[in-house]
Amino acid sequence: MGEIDLIFYVPPIVFSSVSLAFLLLWHMKITPAWQWSAGFAQTAAGFVVSTFLPEPYSAAFVSGLIFIGAACCYGSGLLVHFNAPTLRIPRVLFAAVYSVVLAYIVFVEQSLIQQLFLTDVGFALLLGVAVWMVTRRASRPIDIALVVTSWIVVLDCLTRAIFFTFFTNSSDDFGDFATSLYNLEVSITTIIICMFFPFTALGASATAAIERHRAAAETDDLTGLLNRRGFKQALERDFKSVGLSGSLIVCDIDYFKRINDTFGHAVGDTVIAGLAEEIKGLVAGRGSAARYGGEEFMAFLPNTSLQEAVALAELLRVSFANRDWHQEDLNRKVTTSCGVAAVRDGETTLDSAIDRADCALYAAKSAGRNQVMAEITRTPDLKIDESRSRPLLAQSMDTTRSGAAA
Ligand code: GH3
Ligand code: MG
Ligand code: MG
Repeated sequence: MGEIDLIFYVPPIVFSSVSLAFLLLWHMKITPAWQWSAGFAQTAAGFVVSTFLPEPYSAAFVSGLIFIGAACCYGSGLLVHFNAPTLRIPRVLFAAVYSVVLAYIVFVEQSLIQQLFLTDVGFALLLGVAVWMVTRRASRPIDIALVVTSWIVVLDCLTRAIFFTFFTNSSDDFGDFATSLYNLEVSITTIIICMFFPFTALGASATAAIERHRAAAETDDLTGLLNRRGFKQALERDFKSVGLSGSLIVCDIDYFKRINDTFGHAVGDTVIAGLAEEIKGLVAGRGSAARYGGEEFMAFLPNTSLQEAVALAELLRVSFANRDWHQEDLNRKVTTSCGVAAVRDGETTLDSAIDRADCALYAAKSAGRNQVMAEITRTPDLKIDESRSRPLLAQSMDTTRSGAAA
């Protein structure tokens, strides 16, 4: 076998390896799209069949079908990756019509040139529609790279189809395919594209998986709000963009243990989710909120004064206290207490503001619950002595009270 023939072995080997890698990622639930693995496996099989199957007509027909199957899978892989509509029915219909035309060209017309033209154009159209649909959805650099390499694959197919059909005197005989210039060109361009297309697809899938896991690690399952870790990350991002300025609201549901004890943990969970909904409404578009502990929540509102934050916390308190829980088999009102503090000049972290908001919350609880308390504002240079106990701190603070005790 000549050295040049060895080139024909490269695409099947590379594509089967990538297919296996994707299969593993899919099996490990790292990527949701099994279509990548199927697409690369089919491409590998298509190369084997078209080059090595002895009977040329069956080889042309079967490889044509396999390549179109691969294009369907790549398209689906892209659409799933970018959360775009999968357009399953039109794409399956297209593949069905293509199969009939392919059978006609191979077995009736017996034209190799027409078969190659049809396969290339069909492949380019199927993949091209998917790439077109996801192009504007790509924002991460690796996703943009995936879209660009996908376009290159589409353009490669179209250029080849036009070049070999209209600008060369290629043989029209199926028996000449394995040793044709076309087959050599496909293998060489595929080897070059192989360097980019499968590996950008792998990179994009891995990056998406990492981001999904990071988001899951920063999100509270029950409420969909950030958890403590996610809150910290979000605040660091806020601080980078607007600097450290704004107010903090801390809320804790009143007498929550009684709700759990009397109505059960599941009802307790519903109440927690209910307060989370109120807090989402409060911060929507203007800040970050987290479930900070069991039934304790925290919201940070950048560039919001203490007075504005108190007013917002008061709205939240009233709205939550007025919720009707009958549908949840809870025949009583539930209330929350809130503590509010503003970040002070010179503070570089939120730690002190969190302590002050916590103390104000404690004061709200001590004063009878179902109320909003603001931190002291008359002595802005008040230093909190970390070594002192929380009750003493709360009692020593001059808090501003709003709302009504239950
Ligand atoms: P207070 O008015 O002083 O806040 O009294 P409380 O009964 O609400 O006391 P506390 O805030 O300490 O109550 C916390 C309780 O929250 C204890 C725990 O059983 C319950 N809890 C923590 N996480 C969850 C959860 O995910 N679901 C449910 N249903 N309960 C939880
Ligand atoms: Mg509580
Ligand atoms: Mg609590």
